[in-house]
Amino acid sequence: MKRRDFLASALTVTAGSTFPAGLGHAAAVSAVGPKGDKVSLSEKAVADLQKSIKGSVVLQDSPDYEEARKIWNGSFSKRPAVVVRCADVNDVASAVQFARSNNVLAAVRGGGHSYSGQSTTDGGMVIDLGAMQKAEVDTGTKTCWLQGGAQLGNLDRAGAEHGLATTAGFVSHTGVGGLATGGGHGRLMKKFGLTLDNNLGVELVTAEGKIVKANAKENPDLYWAVRGGGGNFGIVTNFHFQLYPMDPMVSSFAYTFPIDAAMDVMKFYFDWDASQPDEVASSLGLRRSAQGEASVSIGGTFIGTPAECEKAIGKLVGYGKPTVGRITAANYVTMQAAADKIYAHGRYYYSKAGFFNRIDDKLPEVMLDYFMKNPMPRGGISAASHGGKAARVPMDATAYAHRDAKYQISVSVDWDKPEDSDTWLNYSRNYWKVMQPLAEGGFYANTIDDPREEEIRKNFRGNYDRLVEIKTKWDPTNFYRLNANVRPRQKT
Ligand SMILES: Cc1cc2nc3c(=O)[nH]c(=O)nc-3n(C[C@H](O)[C@H](O)[C@H](O)COP(=O)(O)OP(=O)(O)OC[C@H]3O[C@@H](n4cnc5c(N)ncnc54)[C@H](O)[C@@H]3O)c2cc1C
Repeated sequence: MKRRDFLASALTVTAGSTFPAGLGHAAAVSAVGPKGDKVSLSEKAVADLQKSIKGSVVLQDSPDYEEARKIWNGSFSKRPAVVVRCADVNDVASAVQFARSNNVLAAVRGGGHSYSGQSTTDGGMVIDLGAMQKAEVDTGTKTCWLQGGAQLGNLDRAGAEHGLATTAGFVSHTGVGGLATGGGHGRLMKKFGLTLDNNLGVELVTAEGKIVKANAKENPDLYWAVRGGGGNFGIVTNFHFQLYPMDPMVSSFAYTFPIDAAMDVMKFYFDWDASQPDEVASSLGLRRSAQGEASVSIGGTFIGTPAECEKAIGKLVGYGKPTVGRITAANYVTMQAAADKIYAHGRYYYSKAGFFNRIDDKLPEVMLDYFMKNPMPRGGISAASHGGKAARVPMDATAYAHRDAKYQISVSVDWDKPEDSDTWLNYSRNYWKVMQPLAEGGFYANTIDDPREEEIRKNFRGNYDRLVEIKTKWDPTNFYRLNANVRPRQKT
């Protein structure tokens, strides 16, 4: 299939399925503008939008509004005035033009997995790409075209059908839209780079509602910015990713130790991990079970057979007295979806995380101390190893500025009842208070909760000024503002 046909055959959503234009809607829809100002959308304007798109316009009194307004994180139960469920790139452009000409605050939803709820809004408009999930692999070039609302599972599965793969995150229902514009850490990143390193080009809807391409030749400034600058520069409606030959079977390893051994295990881990090849993606976790039982574990993935894995991970095999110690063959795509149910839609989630460029001597002790003194069932902390190919890309080659990160350490919590929110928020925030002084590498913009402008500036490091230039050129009114926001320069 040619690329043009691929775009034309984008998944269609039944037109007008939720908006009975002119059939009893209130004359106008109340909404909010970018600065929280009140905006009134005329019935005609909304009806015209519906007529102009293949997808559907969902209003608060539409039968499928409840489902359409939800995002993955149950902590953000917001009520947008309008949800535009886009079926193709033209719908996305129409939605952007509508939001602009009616001065409505717009949120962009790819997979809806924003930890901080950026992909929804109270009273604004959601431009939802969730129906745009098509993936098409070109086996000749070993590349994949992937629509901007696709989930990581679409990418993993499409590649695996042809013995190909590229880096994606750990939960298969996460959206590629947010992940690949902001970063893209995953099991394969040491071998193949971040997801964004494998972005060969995009089709994107600008803040003016124009459809443009961005790649090494066309609009290279935009291409640079959408690899790490998140949703600041436009809505990606199609990604073009590099894939690599990879056997669908890889290896998984897991070693769990009694908590009494935690200090030694942690020191061993950071030392051992530093010598691991690019084929090994590992992490260390301090965890309590639901019954409160604590343990420390080292686990990960190896690209290769269990026999090769055993050789590669060397000293870990035979280290200490694990209660569990195993290396197993695993189907990569199955493994990528193994945690999907734990991270189910609608539960409550929060995460505090940061990059660590070196392991301070005090770090294991600080990690362990809070964990032991706050024995919260299901609580814990993890350190995921970075490096390899992702670290060999120059810091200014893309907007992503954390090539020197050795680990991302996270306190990620989840719970089921709203009344438990304070307990979990306090647990993770207080844990992070003790960790943060050691996290000199900044934070992952994709998981941060509402950072201030100054923090964002610092976090993009030497790339920030260039991002401001590009933002000022492509989005001078800061139309795309619900994100780790890079503000355009103000006119003087
Ligand atoms: C369960 C879970 C697991 C995760 N695991 C990983 C992981 O392994 N590795 C990793 O790197 N990250 C991981 N993350 C973080 C993830 O990268 C971000 O949450 C990301 O924003 C999710 O993208 P989304 O499209 O689902 O988000 P959405 O909520 O849809 O969007 C978040 C923001 O991304 C931008 N955006 C979304 N779609 C587009 C688009 N098409 N074009 C332009 N901008 C867009 C918008 O600014 C939007 O506000 C995980 C998150 C969750 C919730």
